[in-house]
Amino acid sequence: MVKKSKLKKTKLAFNVGATITDPGNSINNKTGSWRTLKPVKNPKKCTNCSFCWMFCPDMAVTEKFEIIYDYCKGCGICARACPFGAIHMEKDDK
Ligand code: SF4
Ligand code: SF4
Repeated sequence: MVKKSKLKKTKLAFNVGATITDPGNSINNKTGSWRTLKPVKNPKKCTNCSFCWMFCPDMAVTEKFEIIYDYCKGCGICARACPFGAIHMEKDDK
């Protein structure tokens, strides 16, 4: 065992862990850049039932049921959840 007096005193800099220093910063992370498929809504078939808004795991559907492509990851859940076939998935060539 090393005696306490023999331990060198050092100055270590640690990053703060498990702490959110900038609340709400996820808005800066444009997760839509990961997408390979994108949902496309047909407004003529949409009945405003809100299923796409409720089921989107990324909150990428607005309350007016428009898709926010900056954050949509292209999972396709909204297209599967839409009971009226108003959303289909297409290849995203961005
Ligand atoms: S789930 Fe389909 S019909 Fe319902 S609001 Fe969304 S796009 Fe429109
Ligand atoms: S494809 Fe997925 S992430 Fe994009 S709007 Fe639909 S449910 Fe949300």
